[in-house]
Amino acid sequence: ACTYCVNEEVGIKKQETRNKTEGLKWLELGELILKLNQFLKLETVRLTGGEPTLYHDLVPLIKYLKANEIPAVKITTNGFLLKNLISKLQKEDLHSINVSLDALDEDIFFRISKRRSVSRIIEGIDAALEKDIPVKLNAVIIKGVNENQILPLLEFAATKKVAIRFLELMNMGHIHDADQKAIFTEDEILNVIKAKYDITSLPRKPGATANYWQTSSGQVFGIIANESSPFCGDCNRLRLDSYGNIYGCLSSNEPIAIADSALGQKELREKLQNALAQKQAIKFKGSKLSMLEIGG
Ligand code: SAM
Repeated sequence: ACTYCVNEEVGIKKQETRNKTEGLKWLELGELILKLNQFLKLETVRLTGGEPTLYHDLVPLIKYLKANEIPAVKITTNGFLLKNLISKLQKEDLHSINVSLDALDEDIFFRISKRRSVSRIIEGIDAALEKDIPVKLNAVIIKGVNENQILPLLEFAATKKVAIRFLELMNMGHIHDADQKAIFTEDEILNVIKAKYDITSLPRKPGATANYWQTSSGQVFGIIANESSPFCGDCNRLRLDSYGNIYGCLSSNEPIAIADSALGQKELREKLQNALAQKQAIKFKGSKLSMLEIGG
């Protein structure tokens, strides 16, 4: 429930939806993903949220997807319950883990995440690395809040030998109209890093969300610059929520329901096309939904 994603209103709305409608059971969700896979030949299924480690049946869902030939199953997590999750998984189960860590300083971390748990998150990262599961760090940088954490986070990533990505704030959910004031841009992030390190840019892979650089000391870092360097043009992602709705774009407020088991191949294909038509040609427009609702 980080502050840029959840305020009281979003939290209450989410709770009301949960009380009214139960999400899909893990096997229903797994089967729906395999149904989509028949059309899409998925490369990766990323389980995110909200917070995926709060989903009771995450372990069977991960194992089911892996057993049914999804090439890479990955998760994005706040890391709070990661150590416990890792104890139930093997290297073969998870291709990689993105851990969100916006600050190393406990007070700044608390200001953003409303929790005091940096050391607990680091224990989760260590547990994954001990099992040889690759980890990447994500840090959203907010002007006036955590830009002084860029170098400590970069250097922390270097000590753990993991890549790190810094994210520009996206205009979603309750910060929809206020993000411009808080955005710390790609150039500003680069300036902070260049003040201490020489850097060289690395080639961008098609469909990638981040631009990557390497410091003179060999540390790789990326920037997801949704505002200043948008990457919509070759976006190849499709989102599925836990109620069985798909979205072709993070900036779409329009869920497309596909969970109905009576849905034939032709109708499913049409719905997929409608979802893909939601994609933006150039730039993310922003969304009234927060990442908690649509899945980040
Ligand atoms: N709860 C998990 C986590 O903390 O990683 C998974 C979901 S979270 C929505 C995924 C990522 O989206 C996190 O790295 C989070 O910081 C980022 N995020 C959420 N809202 C954002 C926003 N408005 N702008 C940029 N990044 C955002």
